[in-house]
Amino acid sequence: MGERVFTIDDLAETDSVCVCLSCRLGAAFAQHLTDLRTGFPGQVTALGHRGAGPERTAVPHLVALRLGKERIDAVVWEEMTHGQLAAWLPYAEARARVPQLARRIPRLVAIRQALRAGTFTPTGEVAAALDSGRYPSFRFFVEHWPQINKEFSS
Ligand SMILES: [Zn+2]
Repeated sequence: MGERVFTIDDLAETDSVCVCLSCRLGAAFAQHLTDLRTGFPGQVTALGHRGAGPERTAVPHLVALRLGKERIDAVVWEEMTHGQLAAWLPYAEARARVPQLARRIPRLVAIRQALRAGTFTPTGEVAAALDSGRYPSFRFFVEHWPQINKEFSS
């Protein structure tokens, strides 16, 4: 399945208590994740304006939003327990990269934009994954970071 691109209309139908753009998008995206995920323990929790609680991890999601003719990148933060994080990302090696990559959002967004513009063309495993319908989500980045980072830098 391709990447879902949200529109402003999608933000009108959320149950968000706060009416700011990021909370509206967070609520719409949380619903989207709830519909998609199978076997995820507990509820999807968008962080809104707070930080992650104790023993929780803040996981960013890179979200595409259509604004007129433009596609813009936004970030929605999700709070996960250890169990949720392990269910979402079973590979320990990739999971260990989450905090590190969560601090590099501008770089991840730049790579998404370069992929979209065709100015960055990865090879090998990353190219094969993108060809098979994966898209550059945060999870995709943590799974393939060593190769993506190396190729994007060179
Ligand atoms: Zn808000």
